[in-house]
Amino acid sequence: MALSALVEQAIERTLLDEQTIQRRVVELAAQISSDYADVDNVVLVGVLKGSFIFLADLARHLDVPHSVDFIALSSYNRGTVSYGAVRLIMDTRSSITDQHVLIVEDIVDTGYTLDYLMRNFEARRPASLRTCTLLSKPDRREVDVHVDYLGFEIPDVWVVGYGLDYANRFRTLPYIAALRRDVYEKE
Ligand code: 5GP
Repeated sequence: MALSALVEQAIERTLLDEQTIQRRVVELAAQISSDYADVDNVVLVGVLKGSFIFLADLARHLDVPHSVDFIALSSYNRGTVSYGAVRLIMDTRSSITDQHVLIVEDIVDTGYTLDYLMRNFEARRPASLRTCTLLSKPDRREVDVHVDYLGFEIPDVWVVGYGLDYANRFRTLPYIAALRRDVYEKE
């Protein structure tokens, strides 16, 4: 089946079009570049897989020296349901101790993932630690987490595109769209 036909079937509406996302990414990069102007190097740590496209775009607009690293987490999810338990399944390649670290996440939902990451990273004594998240669903928050750089607040719907998936599909759509409820609520 063609991807366009799958998209047609599963997607309800576009929430953020490509231009809107790109404009916001440029703004976030400008803010980050200004805030880190006096820093030798910023380590961008992308949380796989959801952040890979956001991180790639953000990094290319930064005007501060930076390096890129990744981690992968497993949150005990079944489809769209998260149980709040998070586990590190791939660590950064380089040590983050004494580094200026910026965590780059796709979305904060309940907040468990970011809360876990902040605690885990803080224990390694980085020089500084901040967070940059493309999306946030404030209505779903269960843990109070601080986001330093936020792209957009969105309603409580399952979104795909621009790195975000549903069952590993739709990550490479250039826009962010809401999945039809009957697609993800039939689990
Ligand atoms: P939290 O721990 O904040 O509940 O969840 C964070 C993770 O849940 C995100 O990194 C992402 O993997 C996943 N997630 C939460 N909401 C959505 C969504 O609407 N779409 C997608 N694709 N993933 C989501």
